[in-house]
Order: sequence, then structure tokens, then C-alpha cells
Amino acid sequence: MSDPPSLDQIAVGALILATLSGSYALLCIGWPFARCRRCHGSGDLRAPVGRGLRLCQRCNATGRRLRLGRRLWNHSQRLRHDGTRPDRKEGRQ
Ligand SMILES: [Zn+2]
Repeated sequence: MSDPPSLDQIAVGALILATLSGSYALLCIGWPFARCRRCHGSGDLRAPVGRGLRLCQRCNATGRRLRLGRRLWNHSQRLRHDGTRPDRKEGRQ
């Protein structure tokens, strides 16, 4: 049976986790788009047989996809915006 982790091990683990998550946050800010996983950034797909070529439906033939962290950030910002701004359709009171 192994010993429980010491405080030093927990601190090192928390530091590594903070560094990795901070790096990913900077990546999502600086480069929000990554290559599409299905078409590998080309925007088109080859048919399994023959010479057929069609546009990638997943990325709309752009070859890019929004990173998961950026998608979560955009969603949280949209929720915040919708929850804090008054609805202009109802008019001011
Ligand atoms: Zn694609």
C-alpha cells in the first residue's frame, strides 16, 4: 500500500497543473483556431475509392476548428452577456 502524497508532492502537482492550464489559456487567446481533425487543415476530403473530392462538412471547408478552451470561453462570455445586459426589445423602464 502506498503512502498518501506529501504536501511537497501536492504543491508540485498544483504548480504543474497551473502552468499547463495557463499555457493552454494563452494558446486559446493567441491562436483560437486549430487544424480540423477530419480534413487535417486542407478543407477537402478525398473519397475512399476513386478520385472523388468533396468539401469538409465539419469545418465548412475552412480547414480550421475552434479550440475547446476557446469555445468554452466564448460560451461563458455569451452567457454573461445575456445575463447582465438589459434586453433592448422590451424597452427601458
Ligand atoms: Zn475540415
